[in-house]
Amino acid sequence: MFVIEDTYRQQGLRRGLLRILKEKGIDNPEVLGAIGKVPRHVFLERAFLEHAYDDKAFPIGEGQTISQPYTVARQSILLEVQKGHKVLEIGTGSGYQCCVLLTLGAKVFSIEYNQNLFRTYTNLLQRMGYNATFRCGDGSLGWPTYAPFDRILVTAGAPAVPDALIAQLAPNGIIVIPVGADRQQRMLRIRKDAHGNITSEDCGEAAFVPLLGENGWDKTSFFNR
Ligand code: SAM
Repeated sequence: MFVIEDTYRQQGLRRGLLRILKEKGIDNPEVLGAIGKVPRHVFLERAFLEHAYDDKAFPIGEGQTISQPYTVARQSILLEVQKGHKVLEIGTGSGYQCCVLLTLGAKVFSIEYNQNLFRTYTNLLQRMGYNATFRCGDGSLGWPTYAPFDRILVTAGAPAVPDALIAQLAPNGIIVIPVGADRQQRMLRIRKDAHGNITSEDCGEAAFVPLLGENGWDKTSFFNR
């Protein structure tokens, strides 16, 4: 189903994506380097193969999407990831963002709510040789077993910043989280200082699918209309 091979053509298209991201203002060399290494076409169905390096989100099934590369780059930059950081990602989805974080040198813990996506994409990532710790469950509660985390990245739109995530953030840690209704969020960057004080910064617009679960949106409000 997935094309694992990384041909010269795909590599060339990937370099084209880096040019597009630079034109859009992405200038962080580490993040561009990571995006230049992760073969995005592998995460997409054959039908989308020729478009894998367009700067667009694409469906991955179950009503969910692989994030737009610009969004992955922007969230990765806001997160200020350093090598060796323990990063909790909420919303594994296709696993593309997870691979970018791993390529940046993070130790990644990633949670996906949807069982079918979890099975398909954690299996794919393992076949590709990307090693993260995965779990199928409600990421809106965080992952207390492995807390605290240096960084927490939420890749779905939450109604509010869950207290559970703030509690599981290490001192000097950062959470990047879109907050607001379906595809109409503000991207927030939350910092916890060495004394545990919390500050929040509005980093602009975001357009994600909703975060579900206990600290997320009620599934019925999005799927029964
Ligand atoms: N990071 C992904 C990527 O690189 O392709 C994109 C994620 S997609 C925009 C959002 C994902 O969040 C979906 O796969 C959805 O099933 C998942 N999700 C929604 N609510 C969740 C929750 N409470 N816990 C974990 N995952 C959740």
